[in-house]
Amino acid sequence: MVKTGVSYYGCRIPWRAREDLQAIADNHCTFVVHTFSEEDHEFYAKAVGEIVRETRALGLEAWLDPWGVGQAFGGETYSALVMKRRELCQVSASGDTLPICCLNHPGFREYLTQWAKAAVDLGAQVLFWDEPHFFIYPEDGSPSATRWACRCAVCQAKFQAAFRQPMPMTLTPDVRRFKEDSLVEFLTFLCDEGKRLGVRNAMCYLPFENSSTFSDWARVAALPGLDIIGTDPYWRPHQTDVAAHVGRAAQRIAGLAAAHQKEGQIWILNFNIKRGEEGRIPEAIEAAYAAGIRNLAAWSYYGAGYISLASDDPQRVWETLGACYAALHARK
Ligand SMILES: [Zn+2]
Repeated sequence: MVKTGVSYYGCRIPWRAREDLQAIADNHCTFVVHTFSEEDHEFYAKAVGEIVRETRALGLEAWLDPWGVGQAFGGETYSALVMKRRELCQVSASGDTLPICCLNHPGFREYLTQWAKAAVDLGAQVLFWDEPHFFIYPEDGSPSATRWACRCAVCQAKFQAAFRQPMPMTLTPDVRRFKEDSLVEFLTFLCDEGKRLGVRNAMCYLPFENSSTFSDWARVAALPGLDIIGTDPYWRPHQTDVAAHVGRAAQRIAGLAAAHQKEGQIWILNFNIKRGEEGRIPEAIEAAYAAGIRNLAAWSYYGAGYISLASDDPQRVWETLGACYAALHARK
């Protein structure tokens, strides 16, 4: 069976959100990825709980996403943690404290434990670990590079224990290995939390190679606690090879999903779409489907027509997506 979803954020007034959720159900979606930011956790938990309840009452599966939490996940939102809890932050190789929490810091993991419990208490059925990463600098690939993170006290101690030497100042192969190991261990921790709470875990790989994200995607795909693996191969305005671009990413995910008995998911661009380029959406969806992907999600609801990332003609984006989703469900 094909699964079709969309992300939803920006409205924390449950009786207003109800209209949107009905529109999502009417647009042939089967699940909704609700953002659950630090701000939501602190100020809007009850409203998010009502929105999740309404989601499920409409027969839609409810996912919750640690949107921008600690800035270590994707998300167009701010983090208070990186200001209030400076000790949790990543530190660059040159010693600067960066506005992003460290994946290795026990204090950040403690926050995420509380976040996961809150999300499941509100009715989440899937926890969506979206684009986990270390601080991202542009990289030249050279081992002498000094613009990287994290070299905080926690990371230095973990590196010393693992490699029996002080953590270098440069991005050596050992440092790259350490960062990859840290990312895998972080995901293991998150998935264990989800399983302990009785829900499914999904994750989204950033779709490019960098020492701050995953390079060996198979290591995470192999985690027993991870149920759904995906990526978000978003295309740029006026990009002409959308089907090939999305198809490559979809093949990579489909291959990993088959090898590790996971569900493969592809995210479809539904923001920043230029007027007249809505036709890229069916091209992307067809490319993912042809690669064997049966779980598709779009970022975000109604062509993102309410945020600075808005599509030029959000209604047309939304209708195009709905027509694609309807056609997928009609296939046998
Ligand atoms: Zn660190």
